[in-house]
Amino acid sequence: MQERNTLQKRIVHETLVAMASHPTADEVVAEVQNTYPSVSRATVYRILNKLADSGEALRIRINNGADHFDHQTFPHYHVHCNECGKVADVKMPVESLVELLKDTSGYQISGYSLQFDGLCPECQKLEEERGA
Ligand SMILES: [Zn+2]
Ligand SMILES: [Zn+2]
Repeated sequence: MQERNTLQKRIVHETLVAMASHPTADEVVAEVQNTYPSVSRATVYRILNKLADSGEALRIRINNGADHFDHQTFPHYHVHCNECGKVADVKMPVESLVELLKDTSGYQISGYSLQFDGLCPECQKLEEERGA
């Protein structure tokens, strides 16, 4: 049983790394089941939550939406597309904001949750085409 758990954990983690697209749990389930139909939805959910709790993956909470998961665990920000729900990395130094907060709030900052919302390049293009 232990061995099976380890194997399933590796499958889920490797799938998350290979997808590299900030997938939702359901998207990971679909991808895992493509190759390993015997791995249940509940198992994938359980393992994703474990990976997030142990710091091996990031859980990205989206306002009014399903959680997304990220195999990149270093601190970075995300932008969420209002149209298609896709999540992408924001290339912006994290330190500056944390430093700024530290200076102005007096709090010792241990974590943050910050979500940018917008329209991804693909959806902008679709919108343009629709408007044209
Ligand atoms: Zn989009
Ligand atoms: Zn990310």
